[in-house]
Amino acid sequence: MMDAISGALTAVSSLMTLSKDISNAKTDHEIAVKTTELNERLGGALQQLIAAQTDYLALLSEKDKLKTELVKLKDWAHEQERYQLHQTEAGGLLYRVKPAMQGSEPEHSLCAQCYQQGIKSILQPSADIGRFKMLKCHACDSDIQLQAYPSAMAMSSGEGNKWKGFF
Ligand SMILES: [Zn+2]
Repeated sequence: MMDAISGALTAVSSLMTLSKDISNAKTDHEIAVKTTELNERLGGALQQLIAAQTDYLALLSEKDKLKTELVKLKDWAHEQERYQLHQTEAGGLLYRVKPAMQGSEPEHSLCAQCYQQGIKSILQPSADIGRFKMLKCHACDSDIQLQAYPSAMAMSSGEGNKWKGFF
């Protein structure tokens, strides 16, 4: 864009010189030659200004995109402060909302893989796999082992709900 602007400035400057030459011209022929040159340079200056304007509009668009991206990054940075990495009883890693930062939201966890990519994806209960109670990320399709099922003996002794509160 700077090239186009300095080109246009140079062109305008030469136009002023040409304009003076025309004022000082002694013959019709001299006036006609200088006028033709003036018109050609006006066309060139106009093209450079159009190029500068096009570049300027592209820069404005890029600036808006970056601004939106920056707002997203700031929001995400703020959001990240609400969560901490947690290892489930079965070894799965997830980001769990800090109790002090939970506010009125229900207890919940985020997918660690999506989290690393700046995506907030809340894990949802999923169909159990093998002897594990699972959580699923519907954004990246990850399955996270939450907890191994208690043994049948534990179930009968009333510990069947022992994972309650792990979401
Ligand atoms: Zn995910």
